[in-house]
Amino acid sequence: MPTEQVLYRKYRPQSFADVRGQDPVVRILSNALAMNRIAHAYLFSGPRGTGKTSVARIFARAVNCADLACDSPTGEEQSPNRASRRSVSEEGRLIPCNACESCAEFLSGRALDLVEMDAASNRGVDEVRAIREAAELLPMRANYKVYILDEAHMLTREAWNALLKLTEEPPPHVIFILATTEPEKVPDTVQSRVQHLQFRLADEATLVRVLADAAKKEEMALEPDAASMLALFAEGSFRDALNLLGQAQALCGNTITASVLEDFFGAPSKTALAEVASALALRDAKHAIECAGQVFAKGSDPRLFLKLLIHQFRSQFLDALRSGRVEKDAANPFSAKELETILRILLETATERHYSGWRELPIELALHRIVREL
Ligand SMILES: [Zn+2]
Repeated sequence: MPTEQVLYRKYRPQSFADVRGQDPVVRILSNALAMNRIAHAYLFSGPRGTGKTSVARIFARAVNCADLACDSPTGEEQSPNRASRRSVSEEGRLIPCNACESCAEFLSGRALDLVEMDAASNRGVDEVRAIREAAELLPMRANYKVYILDEAHMLTREAWNALLKLTEEPPPHVIFILATTEPEKVPDTVQSRVQHLQFRLADEATLVRVLADAAKKEEMALEPDAASMLALFAEGSFRDALNLLGQAQALCGNTITASVLEDFFGAPSKTALAEVASALALRDAKHAIECAGQVFAKGSDPRLFLKLLIHQFRSQFLDALRSGRVEKDAANPFSAKELETILRILLETATERHYSGWRELPIELALHRIVREL
């Protein structure tokens, strides 16, 4: 396993109580457990690294957890005292106990009633037929057999047809969880038979919290500026955030500072970004472009430069709104309206498609236009 993936695996959420930034999904699944209204097929969609597989595994444990005592799908009697032991998180959500025999088996990765498959490498009709046949058989030990099919959008049309039959009349003891980054590729006929739960990208504050928690457990000193930088680079993905923290740890040991990360990622320094901003404040397009040129000459990625520039002005913009400051003053060289103009231009540049051949030019044009329009 590459070392940078160690932290992601180590700090995967193990319970609904540890899942961050996916409150609607967790609420729906936890309510389904509480009301014993468990669907037989779920579609988990969302960008990569947002926790789809982790949540699917937690749900697989929860439906089989002795402490939660979901009604057995085969109608067997449950022991009467189980209901009083229900595991509940601080927010009042039902969570797997992670301690009973069933939870332990699922956590060990050896549970025979949990089948995880990657549709990217099992995409054909034969594989789905094999699932269909196996799904008919009763679970070995658990209440429910749970199938987690990752990258479900990779299935062939024939495979979808075979799967459709299964979702039409699912055996009562089977739960399917289809996970995908591209839900639009899932046929409508399948979509109409599954419960669709959408996972969202994490916001920066959530990622910073996750990073800070992991750093604390690892006894790392993670500078707040360094944590924000990693969160920014992770672009909403928990996996990327923790993988980056792992890379940073491999590189800098247990003290992680923003300046070391700047070198590592080829990111422009805060000083360089501040210099560009002050050139813009003085309406000096020539100097702003020269500063940007010096940053590129050091090997910084123009896209990263643009991203950090946007991040810097966005913080100023939000500060201005929070403090109700509309006009500029000695400490804040831009008014709220000017910040809005700057951000609009930078954002347009960031979303322009013609990046490939002209890496630096779009940014130079943007800086020039900002001075013209301020
Ligand atoms: Zn349990």
